[in-house]
Amino acid sequence: MRRDEELLRRELAALEDRHGLRRRRLLQAFPQAGNPTRVRLDGRTLINFCSNDYLGLSHHPALARAQCAAAEQFGAGSGASHLVSGHSFEHHALEEELAAFAGRERALLFSTGYMANLGAVTALAGRGESVLADRWSHASLLDAAQLSGARLRRYAHADPAAAARACEHDPRVSLIATDGVFSMDGDLAPLPALAALARQQGAWLLVDDAHGLGVLGPHGRGTLELQNLDAAQVPILVGTLGKAFGSFGAFVAGEATLIEYLLQRARSYIYTTALPPAVAAATRAALRLVQSEPWRRERLRTLIQRFRAAATGFAARLRPSETPIQPVIVGDAAQTLALSASLAAAGFFVAAIRPPTVPAGSARLRITLSAAHTEADVDALAAELTRLLAAADFATA
Ligand SMILES: *Cc1c(COP(=O)(O)O)cnc(C)c1O
Repeated sequence: MRRDEELLRRELAALEDRHGLRRRRLLQAFPQAGNPTRVRLDGRTLINFCSNDYLGLSHHPALARAQCAAAEQFGAGSGASHLVSGHSFEHHALEEELAAFAGRERALLFSTGYMANLGAVTALAGRGESVLADRWSHASLLDAAQLSGARLRRYAHADPAAAARACEHDPRVSLIATDGVFSMDGDLAPLPALAALARQQGAWLLVDDAHGLGVLGPHGRGTLELQNLDAAQVPILVGTLGKAFGSFGAFVAGEATLIEYLLQRARSYIYTTALPPAVAAATRAALRLVQSEPWRRERLRTLIQRFRAAATGFAARLRPSETPIQPVIVGDAAQTLALSASLAAAGFFVAAIRPPTVPAGSARLRITLSAAHTEADVDALAAELTRLLAAADFATA
């Protein structure tokens, strides 16, 4: 059926009726040099509590300097895909440094995390096989499984027993995929159990640690470091560079043969322009800071604990998260939007996350903390949330 404009208009109106219409917020400036937590929105300065810049690196002068210097040397764009003429010294050095950081033989740079998941999953799974994924895995993993032609099976969130039942039921499971840290709840995947299951099943295990890398573990190596898992247990590690690394891009890390195979077969790697070398240079600067400044992770941990301790007035709405992702579950989409607007009026930028990004009935304020926040920022947010949630007559989460 052809979707004429009238039909599109009606679907948009229906979306608006159920409070599902999304609006982009236009950031006018970052009014404090070097501080990514202060943003100008609608002519006012707000404290940003909805960025994934967990270590506060996106505005670090070392990244900007590296990016400028590399742009002068290599140009603003790469000019071609990696396999034609777009693979520069900066990309290559970054791949080697990421592989060393992740404790893997090789790493392959992708333009985005979405494309890394798409490339890895579609290269490794196909028709006649099944991909088993956590029900709440990132959209890019689920899309990738569907695009691969394999059958997508989703198991109950963070439930390795459910995953094991799915494997018993379906011997064709050849790839198990999960986020390390779940992006909307901040909880961790049960990786040791999933690693044991993957080994028993003879399946690949892919962990997308977009929100763990740089943040978790004493050295910032992410969920795997926190849960003591080695490369043999998790053969495919996906990391993104636009979150804690404050830059842009993504990588897949693993054994040399696996990476060579992806280089030859991952279509989202082959058929796209290499990311700008200057972006890779900025990421290299970020990787140095991730490794040399563990105080950023410690500071973040302190702020997470501080926020949770200050949240006693709405503790029942929190999730058991030890990561900088601290959702406050509201339930109703319209109420969540109203709360987000009230927070903005009080000086806090907090996004309302609604279905279908999160399960129906679990609309939430997705609060994210950064090492660049101050104690006073966190205290002020917790106090305002306590006031707003107590004042309003909200259904219990
Ligand atoms: C953000 C995210 C991605 C996508 O990464 P981009 O580089 O933004 O495309 C993939 N997986 C997870 C779990 C994410 O949170």
